[in-house]
Amino acid sequence: EKTDAREVGLQVFNNFQMIHPEFSFVLDNDLKHKTIVKMYRNHLEQVLIILMDNAVKYSQERKEVHMTISKNSRYVEIVVQDFGEGISQDNLDKVFNRFYRVDKARSRDKGGNGLGLSIARRLIEGYHGKLSVESVIGQGSVFRISLPLSSEQEESQTIKDTEKN
Ligand code: ATP
Repeated sequence: EKTDAREVGLQVFNNFQMIHPEFSFVLDNDLKHKTIVKMYRNHLEQVLIILMDNAVKYSQERKEVHMTISKNSRYVEIVVQDFGEGISQDNLDKVFNRFYRVDKARSRDKGGNGLGLSIARRLIEGYHGKLSVESVIGQGSVFRISLPLSSEQEESQTIKDTEKN
């Protein structure tokens, strides 16, 4: 259950780019090398698909999605940012609840049932990671995944850091 987070991130990004030619996707990839997290590949892939799919579903006007992949000595961070309808402060915590949808009537045509984000958060927390959101209504949303690096990766990172100093 070791996965290269960088590779999965790039793959999901490229797939969305192909499926949604009407969107402009921007990738900010800070990672030059493999970045191993202790997680099933399918699980990370599923989480990223949920976030990217939402970013596309809830951006009617400004069709732009940014993905940023970075890390520090202990965590990998993958950020998915859109410039769509955004989420009000009241609803920010609730979007991770099962079956919660901000606008039930209006978003029915988008075919969701309010499970995506609850599944995504459960998966990430299952690996001692965090999934959080910041958003401004009318301006867009930023979803942030942070996942601990596998201990192996952490060790090699520490060695590299020591070599640098
Ligand atoms: P599905 O179960 O198919 O994912 P869903 O999109 O309704 O359906 P969630 O992914 O759990 O379910 O999202 C819950 C609610 O949070 C959505 O109905 C939507 O109102 C809001 N939401 C999620 N992502 C975004 C986003 N990027 N921008 C604005 N609102 C969002």
